[in-house]
Amino acid sequence: MQASGLDDMNKYKLNQYQFQEIRNLYPKINLYLQPVIGTEDVRQFLYCPRIIYFRYVICAPMKKTYKMEYGELKHEKIQKLKNKSDDDCIQKYYNIYLNDADLGLVGLIDYFEFDGKTAFPVEIKSGNIPLDGLNIPHKYQIIAQAILIEKNFDFMVNKMRINYIKHQKSVDYRLLIEDKLKCMKIIRKIRELLIYEKIPEPTKDQGKCVDCECKNYCYRG
Ligand code: SF4
Repeated sequence: MQASGLDDMNKYKLNQYQFQEIRNLYPKINLYLQPVIGTEDVRQFLYCPRIIYFRYVICAPMKKTYKMEYGELKHEKIQKLKNKSDDDCIQKYYNIYLNDADLGLVGLIDYFEFDGKTAFPVEIKSGNIPLDGLNIPHKYQIIAQAILIEKNFDFMVNKMRINYIKHQKSVDYRLLIEDKLKCMKIIRKIRELLIYEKIPEPTKDQGKCVDCECKNYCYRG
């Protein structure tokens, strides 16, 4: 994926109606000034950076894994939930799609809660509660969601919550500024991969290749 030729968008001075007209006429044009990265891509990149390469640089067709199918089912269920306020004034916003053009980041958030001062993303998970904390790819996917909430609403986000439905238990994880800065670095690395189109090193953990949707394209697979 090459950087867009629209490097200096300001000189075109298009107003929002003209932009909308272009969007309607050419829905496949990327109107962002840089590659757009999803919060899910952050997770995939940390799992194995080659997946991002095969998915977006090579645009290789991918088979749906059971994890993807579960993700779609989960979002169908969440879509039926309505945004609401609890008695204790906690507001819950379900299935929120957020983007930030400056960062080139987009993401669909299961839901987030807001207490009037701070907000935090909540991720619904079907698996077991990890004994040694969140795995790194999952942790940074949710941190990317937290960054989107901060950028879009100007709320302070200093924790994230995982709702482990199998155990009917929620676990909160602290979120530090260092975590957010590290996440921004990861987003930058993904962007570089998409711009320079250089195949990254495979994951060191060959066990990940067994179930990988890219194993038919990857020499490692
Ligand atoms: S087969 Fe292994 S090395 Fe290749 S993309 Fe998948 S996880 Fe990465």
